[in-house]
Formats: sequence, C-alpha cells, structure tokens
Amino acid sequence: YKPNSPERTDLRDEGTAGERLTLTGYVFSKNCESLAGAWLDFWQADGNGVYDNAGYKLRGHQFTDKTGKYVLETVVPGEYPGRTPHIHVKIMANDKSPILTSQLYFPFEQRNQTDPIFNQALVVDLTDTPEGKVARYNFVLGTN
Ligand code: FE
Repeated sequence: YKPNSPERTDLRDEGTAGERLTLTGYVFSKNCESLAGAWLDFWQADGNGVYDNAGYKLRGHQFTDKTGKYVLETVVPGEYPGRTPHIHVKIMANDKSPILTSQLYFPFEQRNQTDPIFNQALVVDLTDTPEGKVARYNFVLGTN
C-alpha cells in the first residue's frame, strides 16, 4: 500500500496490461444504510501480475456517490508468485471512522484453492459483457 494515491475512478493508462474490468457496487453501514462519501482506495497488479511500486499505476482512490455507489475502471489483475489474483482495497465510511483493509477475489481461479489468505466471502460476482468483465461487490462496514 502506498498512501496519497490519485483521486480517480479509472486506473487504466495507455498500455496497461490486462483485460478490461469494471468493478462496481455499494458501501453499506452495519445497518444496511448506503454510505455516501465513503472513501475507497484501490491498488492492484496489472494483467501480468506486476505492481508499480515506484509510481501510482493501478492505484487510486474515490468516494461513493449520493447512493453509496462506487465504480472502478481497471483491468483484471494477474497472479504473482504465492498469490491468487486479487484487488487490494481500503475503505473508510468517513474521516473519523476506522479503516477496513481487505482484498477482493475472482471466482473459478485455480489458485484460490491454495492461497492461504483466500476468503470465499470476498469473491466478486463476475459477468462477461461486450465491453469486458464486470465485477460486483458490496461492502458492509462495521460502523453505523
Ligand atoms: Fe497483492
């Protein structure tokens, strides 16, 4: 994780390796109220399993809209040694709430079986569309 990622909903640059992926969903409170203005910071490897540790490629933060929705335009992350493909995320309901740090996974990945920190509850719903893959995931925070 690198702090101070740029605010943006599209992490792709010209030439970013990987299949196009849209990740979208809502952020909810413990009481299942949608949270507007929640902060989400995403970072991930490119389609070849490579992170940009020098700069901010495939790193960015955004805030949920009025309805608690987020949309991230990115690419499907590749696997790298020891890990199944995943997207890292940190989430805060607001600037006074605790940070949730988590990871999202993809269905039907062979490496899900052997990755020691894989969690089935963190697998996205994945569909294929003419514009690329669409992943859906709703976060529920422990705050009210
Ligand atoms: Fe990682």
